Amino acid sequence: MGRLFGTNGVRGVANEELTPHLALDVSLAIGTFLGKGKTVAVGSDTRVSGSAIKSAVLSGLMATGHKVVDIGIIPTPGLQYFVKKHDEVFAGVMITASHNPPEYNGIKLIWTDGIEAPREVEEKVEEIYFRRAFNLVHWNEIGSLVNYPEAYHEYIEGVLSVVDTQAIREREFHVIVDVGNGAAYKTSPELLSRLNANVITLNAQPDGRFPGRMPEPTYENIKYLSDIVKEMGADFAVAHDGDADRAIFFDDKGRFIGGEYLLAMLSKYVIKQTGKRIVVTPVSSGRVVEDAVKSAGGEVIYTKVGSPIVARKMIELGDKVAIGGEENGGIIYPPHQYCRDGAMAIALVMEMISKTGKKLSQLYDELPKYYIIKTKVHVEDKEKMMKRAEEFLRGLEAREYITIDGIKAVFDDGWILVRPSGTEPIIRVFVEFNSEEKAKRTVEEVLSILKGE
Ligand code: MG
Repeated sequence: MGRLFGTNGVRGVANEELTPHLALDVSLAIGTFLGKGKTVAVGSDTRVSGSAIKSAVLSGLMATGHKVVDIGIIPTPGLQYFVKKHDEVFAGVMITASHNPPEYNGIKLIWTDGIEAPREVEEKVEEIYFRRAFNLVHWNEIGSLVNYPEAYHEYIEGVLSVVDTQAIREREFHVIVDVGNGAAYKTSPELLSRLNANVITLNAQPDGRFPGRMPEPTYENIKYLSDIVKEMGADFAVAHDGDADRAIFFDDKGRFIGGEYLLAMLSKYVIKQTGKRIVVTPVSSGRVVEDAVKSAGGEVIYTKVGSPIVARKMIELGDKVAIGGEENGGIIYPPHQYCRDGAMAIALVMEMISKTGKKLSQLYDELPKYYIIKTKVHVEDKEKMMKRAEEFLRGLEAREYITIDGIKAVFDDGWILVRPSGTEPIIRVFVEFNSEEKAKRTVEEVLSILKGE
């Protein structure tokens, strides 16, 4: 049997891979799996194909007997918050391709707790899809459609309710926010205004052709923010990806803050603020997170790669968890909700600056710096290559080996992670050391082993 859901839901080029037919069949499968008579929320980002794909999804959910709430264009965490907050809403479907180029779109299933559906649920939906065992209900059981455009206000209120708004408002921030023509075009500027910030918004018109910049907030795509933040004398600049579950910052000196450094400084802050000791992050996260957490008296728990896996681990560990997140700017803050949330990251950064009385640049300077290289190799036989990589890494006699996801060799001055992709014929190699030269040399060594040289 084939697989439908990848790491990030069903995703592909609109009208080529992700056609309206496919969207309809996927939603019929989801609807059939849910039984009938449930309420399902549907939202989308700003992509050109968004309305076309969404219409097919709405149709499939109604035809399988569900009431559908269309909450319009909203960040993915906004939909997740809506599903979590409203008890009568059983699940959610998000139409988004996150950070992918404009021609892509995707369908993501959000489970009743507001987290991406677990793999077991996706497998059951896939089984229905491939058997085409859709349960089209009797004509008088077909579901209805309601619009609920106020969902984004509730989401902003949710974020505001878990930070010290008074402290932030008094600080009178100057902020540049680049929403990249994406789903946060209303939410993040409004959040910042509510926090009494002087806001300059960039690329804030919703436009799924992404004329301002590509939706992935890599350094290359958003480096212009460095000059803008310096020229405007702003406290920071922040950029989202297309569906705004991620936030990437530039400090007041115009320096790009990598996602692991953001997680590191927020971890330190939240541990000190709350006394909760645990920080959850995937094995692929940089050493700086562990350094920062240890310096604050906390402990890092590593998971496999994937934000829903981090979220579920955080729930399992419960009250002891301070914060969690990924190295790509995805921050999960338990008092709000258990998913990556770009707006939450902004509010929390503002609270951290207000309460510590330090500039973002000062907080960044307090962290040790490492050199990380992330690359991948195309391989035919993943298993064989992984064995070869493991033999090599074991031979290095590292301080510790972590085998939660691939194999990670941990040394005093850095680490090497070799990890097979779950969905593609690819092995990923991450290398981080406190010297750039050593990181480069090591990555070459590992790649030559994997290429069989
Ligand atoms: Mg995203």
